[in-house]
Amino acid sequence: MELVLYPDPRLSRRVKPVREFDAALAETAREMFAEMYAQKGVGLAGPQVGIMQRIMVINCKGEPDGEIVFVNPEILTREGEQVGEEGCLSFPDILATIKRAMKVTVRAQDVTGKPFEMTAEALLSRAIQHELDHLDGILFTTLMSPAERAQNAARLKALERAFAEKSAPAPRVRSR
Ligand code: ZN
Repeated sequence: MELVLYPDPRLSRRVKPVREFDAALAETAREMFAEMYAQKGVGLAGPQVGIMQRIMVINCKGEPDGEIVFVNPEILTREGEQVGEEGCLSFPDILATIKRAMKVTVRAQDVTGKPFEMTAEALLSRAIQHELDHLDGILFTTLMSPAERAQNAARLKALERAFAEKSAPAPRVRSR
């Protein structure tokens, strides 16, 4: 899997629900965890690895029993408030202070399609809100304060330049 970086347009789309709960989906989730651990993240959403479906994986514990796969998740209730630093694997080297709900109750399906509900607080709640935003094409830069956006402007510009260079057609090789 290859990490999709800002400002790739795939990160700005609302993606479709998962309909097929097959072996391929379980394999996708497994690969997403592997990529997330390789990048030292605590959460990863489908569009961040080019999977344009409503799947996200989170592990805030760092132990195998902390792994949670959310398929077709929706937040049912939000409570309270937390303000804390957040990063995103699609924005290397950028951190921002983002306000989120302290506690969320989420409903989702597991990789086999079985529905579940859970209530999460603090870091797990933050990760769920961040990753679910990805499924709706919402990036954490849009939640930054103007001051933080200004602080990160040079890094964002650098990512935009790198993306433009990568997407530009390869220079033509001159024939003799
Ligand atoms: Zn992110």
